[in-house]
Amino acid sequence: MSVRVIFLGPPGAGKGTQAQSLAHEWGVPHIATGDMLREAVAAKTALGLEAKRHMDSGGLTAQAEALDAVFTRAGIALDRVVFFDVSRAELLRRLTGRRVCKSCGRTFHLVSAPPKVAGKCDACGGELYQRADDSEATVATRLDVYQKQTAPLLDYYRRSGLLTEIAGEGPVNEVAEAIRKAVGQGVGR
Ligand SMILES: [Zn+2]
Repeated sequence: MSVRVIFLGPPGAGKGTQAQSLAHEWGVPHIATGDMLREAVAAKTALGLEAKRHMDSGGLTAQAEALDAVFTRAGIALDRVVFFDVSRAELLRRLTGRRVCKSCGRTFHLVSAPPKVAGKCDACGGELYQRADDSEATVATRLDVYQKQTAPLLDYYRRSGLLTEIAGEGPVNEVAEAIRKAVGQGVGR
């Protein structure tokens, strides 16, 4: 059977990783809905025009409404919306941990891929630094913007009974299992 699920979650919540592997497991395409809408609008298809009308109307839930309209017109029913709940502290830890070598550009992560010697590149011994984009202040602002934009979306899907919140902080396989349960797709089904 086909599964139609939207994954929502802040930057750093791991939804891209889960979407890719679960889409593969379920044999369904993984589509970034923002890209899909932009492409449909650019191509001026009937769906695109309908989506544009909704997005132009503004509201904070414009994207959700545009998606609904596109899905309805295409005869697609959404099975579930999964929200990745990850604490702000954990998101900050994940998103501010990147370090880049000044000499060769190689990327490390203090949590998931630390260098062998603190502050030094494994490949060339160069000095590691933090990009401005990865600084705590920048990341905190990104998270604030996300939260502000997403709160109405969550309300929208909660009201429609489609929303399931899952704990997004555990190991990748546990998070995947929580999503399978939320969507009703057991392993090997
Ligand atoms: Zn290096």
